[in-house]
Amino acid sequence: MATDYYGVLGLSRGASDADIKKAYRRLARDLHPDVNPDPEAKERFQEVSRAYQALTDPDKRRIVDLGGDPFDAGAGAAGGSPFGAGAGFGGLGDIMDAFFGGGAMGGRGPRSRVRAGDDALIRLELDLEQTVFGTTEEITVDTAVLCGTCSGAGTAPGTHPVTCSTCSGRGEVQSVQRSFLGQVVSSRPCPTCAGTGQVIPDPCPECGSEGRVRARRTIPVKVPAGVEDGMRIRLTGRGEVGPGGGPAGDLYVEIRERPHEVFTRDGEDLHCHVTLPMTAAALGTTLPLTLLDGEDTDVDVRPGTQSGTVLTLRGKGAPRLRATGRGNLQVHVDVQTPTRLDAEQEKLLRELAALRGEDQRQPAAEGHGGLFSRVRNPFR
Ligand SMILES: [Zn+2]
Ligand SMILES: [Zn+2]
Repeated sequence: MATDYYGVLGLSRGASDADIKKAYRRLARDLHPDVNPDPEAKERFQEVSRAYQALTDPDKRRIVDLGGDPFDAGAGAAGGSPFGAGAGFGGLGDIMDAFFGGGAMGGRGPRSRVRAGDDALIRLELDLEQTVFGTTEEITVDTAVLCGTCSGAGTAPGTHPVTCSTCSGRGEVQSVQRSFLGQVVSSRPCPTCAGTGQVIPDPCPECGSEGRVRARRTIPVKVPAGVEDGMRIRLTGRGEVGPGGGPAGDLYVEIRERPHEVFTRDGEDLHCHVTLPMTAAALGTTLPLTLLDGEDTDVDVRPGTQSGTVLTLRGKGAPRLRATGRGNLQVHVDVQTPTRLDAEQEKLLRELAALRGEDQRQPAAEGHGGLFSRVRNPFR
């Protein structure tokens, strides 16, 4: 039995095109799946959409008025294929036109040819002096820049894009398949115009309609004092220009810090190691040290300094990034025990040991505390 398509829309036979459109819009507004999640409403919306289809296509409406069903395969053959291009449910764009008052498919419409550019990342190797005190470096990047010939338009000079004939400028093409659910319409970006709704008949000779070209650029990068290995500096708008001359992405410069011969770094603190002869550590000394910035300074080593002592030079470390002040320089002292003594030196050391009661030939701890305590502290 043929569906009463007029009844579905609440109309009677002979309703005008304007009435059909009006009735459909009123019903669709309540039933469209975007506004009404009820599964029953969805089913009803499909019925209403089919009725609208059947009654707005003159061929189909003739079949309806003759008491047939234009979506029935047999009847469809009589009225021209309902599944062919531009027929059947393929006219979804028309439905949406009625629903949304024309133009865009569900409000989406063709996508823009112009898109934002990608961000780019480049690594910059710096010496410790440069990360600690800051520098300005020139970097060279291969990137996409705006095409100078067409300024991003992609067209040859004096020409313009034209509406895509495949999708009539909608940017989408629909295909219809019949399934147990009825007719299923799927839409996908138009293959001719890549969804933009426009084609460029005379592409720009410079960029081939891309609107951008590859170029090598040299960019100065200001590296602030106190940056650390792995940090990224963002240069807004210095990334790649987008397709169609779209706004450029950002360029990120990732800092790589080369190891230094003398100094290592831990955040805002610098560290270095110095080796002192045993005698200097015992007697105290003044240690000349060239700092990272080239300044010569004297480090005061107090008499009796132990191996492993850390001497702190306040404010001689790295400047704090985005803050005031500087970290410290930590000087780690290693005391070196002499390994080769001549006869004279050994004699003097033995005299010293005797004077200090540290002569091992007369262990002071003999008979006390047992072997373990003597091993642990043989000079007690
Ligand atoms: Zn161009
Ligand atoms: Zn197209």
